Amino acid sequence: MVTSNTIKDSMKIPPLDLTREYDEIKSSVQARIERVLASGRVVLGKEVEEFEERFARFSGAKFAIGVASGTDALLLPLMQLGIKPGDEIITTAWTFVATVGVILRLGAVPRFVDIEYASFNMNPVLLEKAFTSKTKAIIPVHIYGHPVHMKPVTDFAEKHGLPIVEDCAQAHGARSGNKPVGLFGGFGAFSFYPTKNLGAYGDAGAVITNDRASAEKIKQLRIHGANQNYVYDDSFGINSRLDEIQAAILNVKLDHLDSWNKARKLAAAYYTEHLSKLNLSGVVLPSVRVDEDHVFHLYTLRVKERDKLLNFLHDKGISAGVYYPIPVHQQKAFRKLGFGEISLPETERASREVLSLPLFPQITREEQDYVIRAVGEYFKK
Ligand SMILES: *Cc1c(COP(=O)(O)O)cnc(C)c1O
Repeated sequence: MVTSNTIKDSMKIPPLDLTREYDEIKSSVQARIERVLASGRVVLGKEVEEFEERFARFSGAKFAIGVASGTDALLLPLMQLGIKPGDEIITTAWTFVATVGVILRLGAVPRFVDIEYASFNMNPVLLEKAFTSKTKAIIPVHIYGHPVHMKPVTDFAEKHGLPIVEDCAQAHGARSGNKPVGLFGGFGAFSFYPTKNLGAYGDAGAVITNDRASAEKIKQLRIHGANQNYVYDDSFGINSRLDEIQAAILNVKLDHLDSWNKARKLAAAYYTEHLSKLNLSGVVLPSVRVDEDHVFHLYTLRVKERDKLLNFLHDKGISAGVYYPIPVHQQKAFRKLGFGEISLPETERASREVLSLPLFPQITREEQDYVIRAVGEYFKK
C-alpha cells in the first residue's frame, strides 16, 4: 500500500502533534472548561468525581483517585503502604526517572532487575535474585505501552506477599493476558502528562485500586492527610489535588482513548509491515507477545550505530527520539547516592540501540511513508 510516487521530497514530521488532536475535540473541551469556570469550583469537584468514576470503569477497577501527576500516582501508594527509609523496592532502571525518584524520595532503596531484550520490560526470571528480607514492594513498568508479562511477576509477588505498584504511565488501555494493566497486585499508577496516550493539558495523574480502604487513605494523603477539613488523625500527606479543568479535559478525551489507541496500533502495524519488507539488516522492530495488548505509546526499534540513523532522520525533518539515552542507574545524580557500580547489561545495551519513530493517533500514512522511505534510504547508503 506504500504510495511511493506520492511521497513528498521534504516533510517535517513531529514526534506527536497535539494540535491535530485538539482539532478533533475542540468544541467539547471548550464547553466543559466553560462549565467549570462558570461553576466557580476549580479543584476536586464534579469533573474530578466524574473522571474518577469513568476512569475506574475504563480500567476495570473499583476505585480511581485523581492526583496531580503520574509521579504522585506512584508516590502515594508507596506512602500508603508505609514504605520507609531502608526498605527495598524491586523495579527497573529502564524507565522515566520518576519511577525511581519516588522510591528515593521516601528514603527507600531501588533494587533494579535487568530487562528482557524483546520487550524492554523487567525480566521476571531475575526477580528472585533481587529479593531480600528488606523487599517491600515491586514496581513493574509497562514501558512504551508494552505490558509486562505479569503472570511470573504476580507469582513472585504472591510467593513473598509483596504488593505491586504498576507504573502504567505509558500504558493506558494495555492488557496483559487479557487483563487490564494496573490491577495485578494492589495499585496502578497513571500519568496524564500531555504526551501520554491519555493526556491532560497540564499535569495530572490517577491511582487505581480495588481496595476501598487503600482508596480512601490515598484520598486523604492527596490533601495533606486530612480526615476532614483541617483535622489530621492518621498521617501527614502531600498536596496532590487534581484540578477541575484538567479533569474536564480528561473527561472529554477518555471517550476517544480506545479509538486513539486503535489508531496507534494500526500506525505501528503499518510501520512494521513496510519496514520489515525492507529487510534491514541490524534493525530489530518492536515485537508483541501474543497474549499482550501493546498500546504503542512509542514505536521503538533497535539499531546498531543508532546515533547515525538518528541524525540522518533529523536531517530529513523527522523527529525520531531516544527514550532513554542514559538509564537511571548510570545517571550522575544516582551514582552520587553511593549505591556503587550496578551492572545491567541489557538496560545499557538498550540505551545504545533504541530509536523511536514518530507515532501518534493522527499521523498520516503519507507521513509514515516518508519516514519508511527515509529509513530505507539510510540503509541503502
Ligand atoms: C511520564 C512517566 C511518569 C511520570 O508521570 P508525570 O505525570 O510526568 O509525573 C512515570 N513513569 C513513566 C514510565 C512515565 O513515562
